[in-house]
Amino acid sequence: MGIRDELEAELKFGAERCKVGRFLDTLDPKDAEEIQAALVSKNYPLEAVRRVMIKRGFDGGITICHRHAKKDCCCVD
Ligand SMILES: [Zn+2]
Repeated sequence: MGIRDELEAELKFGAERCKVGRFLDTLDPKDAEEIQAALVSKNYPLEAVRRVMIKRGFDGGITICHRHAKKDCCCVD
C-alpha cells in the first residue's frame, strides 16, 4: 500500500476504528473473533494476547490494547 492510500484509509477509517480494531479487520473473521474474546477475557494477560497479535502483524502498543479491551477506544460496534 502506498503512503497516499494509507493516508486516505486513515481519513476514512481512522476515526471509526482504533489500531486494534483495524488490525482485527485484516484477520480471518474467526481469528478476529477469538482475539477479540481473548482481549476482553480475564483468562489471558493482555500482554500475551498482544504478542500473539504481533506475530500476525500487529504493531500497536499495549495502551491501545487496554483501551480497546475496555471499549475506551473509537471502535463502533
Ligand atoms: Zn478499538
